[in-house]
Amino acid sequence: MDQQKIGGFIATARRAAGFTQAALAERLGITDRAVSKWENGRCLPDASLMLPLCDLLNINVNELLSGERLNMDNYKEMAEKNLMALKEQEERHNRRLLNLECVIGFISVGTYMLMVFAACFAVQDAAWRVALIAGGMALMLVGCFFALKLEREAGYYECPRCGERYVPTMASVFIAPHIGRTRWMKCPRCGKRAFQKKVLTR
Ligand SMILES: [Zn+2]
Repeated sequence: MDQQKIGGFIATARRAAGFTQAALAERLGITDRAVSKWENGRCLPDASLMLPLCDLLNINVNELLSGERLNMDNYKEMAEKNLMALKEQEERHNRRLLNLECVIGFISVGTYMLMVFAACFAVQDAAWRVALIAGGMALMLVGCFFALKLEREAGYYECPRCGERYVPTMASVFIAPHIGRTRWMKCPRCGKRAFQKKVLTR
């Protein structure tokens, strides 16, 4: 996707619809800086804003992502291309989140081990030992909580029986036994309990 071209197209469509940047921003409940960023090609509108934006500009999402008005001849081809590009973007985004999860996990477990090590060998005072171990454990739990939250938000879990791809509740992720990122959970569609595999896109 060509962000420059999309930005130029947003600006043209906005003027044609009779909005200033500020007026458009107000209708969408965002700042006019965000609109200006889109139009300069520095970022794309958030997925949740695409439909309302297109409504206001009298264009469709496919045209928005192509950065041009489409006719029936190139419509289908562009639609497929845009879907692919969106999917790739989602995949990249989710992979980044999962990598971040690993980093957070390693850091919190590593810090905990360091603090336990310090408690065993570096300090003599019993109160300090308890404080180090308890503090380390609290840090690790907080770290694991955030890591797990990221894992839940990035991508989907796939049911091996019915193929449903879904985002589970935080509670079910928390209590699920797991091997790596594959978790033993109940599928919300068919109700089968199985090892549900992490996938990056729907
Ligand atoms: Zn299922």
